[in-house]
This record gives sequence, C-alpha cells and structure tokens, in this order.
Amino acid sequence: MLKIDTQAAIDRLLRFLVVPGITGKEGNIAKEIGEALKSAGVPPKSIRHDDANTRIPMPTQTGNLVVNIPGAGALANAPRQLFMTHLDTVPLCAGAKPVRKGKKIVNEAETALGGDNRTGCAVLVTLAAELIQQKLSHPPITLLFTVREESGLFGARFLNPAEFDDVSMGFNFDGRSADDVIIGAVGADRWEVELYGKASHAGVAPERGISAMMILAHAMTDIQANGWWGKILKDGKEGSSNIGPVGGKNDGTAGDATNVVTDFVLVKGESRSHDARFFKAITNAYKDAFSTALKKVLDHEGKPGKYKFTSRTDYYPFKISEKAAVVAKANRAVAAIGRTPNIRVANGGLDANWMVKHNIPTVTFGAGQNDIHTVKEWVDLVEFEAGCQLAVALATGT
Ligand SMILES: [Zn+2]
Repeated sequence: MLKIDTQAAIDRLLRFLVVPGITGKEGNIAKEIGEALKSAGVPPKSIRHDDANTRIPMPTQTGNLVVNIPGAGALANAPRQLFMTHLDTVPLCAGAKPVRKGKKIVNEAETALGGDNRTGCAVLVTLAAELIQQKLSHPPITLLFTVREESGLFGARFLNPAEFDDVSMGFNFDGRSADDVIIGAVGADRWEVELYGKASHAGVAPERGISAMMILAHAMTDIQANGWWGKILKDGKEGSSNIGPVGGKNDGTAGDATNVVTDFVLVKGESRSHDARFFKAITNAYKDAFSTALKKVLDHEGKPGKYKFTSRTDYYPFKISEKAAVVAKANRAVAAIGRTPNIRVANGGLDANWMVKHNIPTVTFGAGQNDIHTVKEWVDLVEFEAGCQLAVALATGT
C-alpha cells in the first residue's frame, strides 16, 4: 500500500471544515480549495468553474469547481477518470468549530460539523497532492466539486455533459465508510398540493365553510389506510413517502384564526423508490387521495373545495451492474487498501444519480462522515484516512 501524508490530509480537512459554505453559497470554500490545490502543485490554469449555476433554478454563487490533471507515467494515456464530491454543507453547519480529539474530529459549536462533505473535498485535494508530489503514474483525471448537492443534487444535474465526454468512469466520495461500494440509489419525486376550501365564521356559520385542513386530514387517513404512508411495501415493491411542511398563504400558517374555517393549506411531500415506476405510483396515490378527500368535505350547499397538485422528479433511481468495469475497479481498490468491499445501494439521492443519467458510471464511497445533518455530527479519521488511501489506489491501480 502506498504511503500518504496523513497529517497533511487531516490538516486540509480541518482547514476546509472551518470555512462556511452552505448550499448555494459555495464561493468561499471553492476559493479555499482552489488555494489548497495550488499549494499541492496543481497549475492555476487547470482550475476553473463551469456555468452550471446559470442553469440552476435557485441563486447559486458559483458553478461547479472543475480541475483537469493530465495523465502521468505508464498510465498517462489510459482513459480519463472522474473523482467527485460536493462542496456545500447543510445550513445547520453554519458556525461549526471543529476540533480534533484523537481519531475523531468533533464540534465545539451547537451546529452540524460539515464532514458531509468536507471529508470528500479533503480526499480529492489529497489525491491531487499525492499524485503530484510522489510523481505517481496515473491516467488523466478530472476532479469535480459540485455545488448545491444538499438542496437537490443541482450541481451534478445541471453540469454540461459535453465537458465530461471523455470520462470513462467516476468515483464519488460522500458517505461513512471507505469499504462501502455504493452502486445504486433511490429515485425521488417532490410534490406539492394547494388545497382550497372556503372561509366562514367558525362559530356563527361553520356549515357554510369548507375546511382545507379537514380535506388534508381525510387524505392522510386514506393514504395510511391504503398502505402508502411512510415505509411502503406493496406487491413486492418497496418505497417510502412523507409529508413535510404544511403551511398557508405567503409562507404563513395554515389557517389564520381559530374562529375562521381554514380556506387554504399548502402541503409539500416526497415519494421515493429504487423502482423508477413505483415512486411515480406513490406520487399518484397521493394525488388520488387528495382528489377523493375533496368529496368528503362539503359546504351547506353540497359544494366541494378544489385542489392543485404538482410534482417533479428530483432524481432517477439507478443500479450499476456488479459486473461493470467501474465496480470491478472499485472492488480491487478497496481490496488494495486491505479491506473487504461491501456492495450496497443507498436510500438517499446522490450526485451519482445524475452522473449515471449523464452516462458516466459512478460508484460512491465514504470517507468518515457520521451522524450527518445533526448537531452530533463527527468525523471518523480512520475512515477518512482510508478514503484518502482508496482515492490514490483508484487513480494509480489498474
Ligand atoms: Zn453529502
């Protein structure tokens, strides 16, 4: 196994953890990583931003950070490999104060730490540093640091695939353990429904009103009774669903006062499955439930309320064949660092969902994230170091 400078790798991770960069605001962390790449020996002219942010439908400070490193040594003309990770952290990470405690990095602030995904950022910069400083033989490599992963995989979704058309396979670092070889992930819809009832005085003439809240209650009862709620197992298919925010007009509450029949409710939810048709079926079950619920809440003249249901696919499910070259290479590299590959699929979306959609078969590994998106988040430095070793093994192995 190749020796790598683990102290330098940990220093990089600590350096990246203190720079804020919540989703959509990746400007500063991109700059810091650019500086770290230059001090690792990457020529400034090979570091650039793409224009994905001009297509992302939300304000985003910068495009994805893209770095092309020419091949070297005996593998100089081998097919190009992509190493990727995401730059952004969840908003809960703002203000993190990372400190090292033995083989862990923990947080002194009451925030999330941001190991998701500064561990991945430090792995990629360490890879560049080791390849250059040890003058290792490797194929041409593209490093891709995506923006806005946490808010919906937007950087990966809106990159320009033509800029990556010579890439043969991809390796994404975004997870817990370096032995995890993640070859598939769920697909998901996000949906929202506007429920329109009719306001009336809740004490004087409640029968003249139509409660949008009661329409929602009927729909949710129906969803649960028919097996479409939470963890879903139906006809051998699996999926999940949830209702998240419930609110009113202009980001206000659902319902304005206790003495007014609630005339409007806005509900947001999601559907997930590894089966591309099944998550659509879940979304349709919700749509039907709202439509049916309307008929159960009528005013004094027997009139129902109305609804407007919209959904969009957030990302598509994928599963790479265990016989694919990218999986074989992943398994060899995990074995090369002295570990046993654990092939699995993920129940959350990954940037890899979009890379596969862009025709780049991409396997995802972990590099030490733990208890992500919580104030208990910490980094396991044993897994982080293994992640760095793994990246070097992938780039230098055959
Ligand atoms: Zn992540």
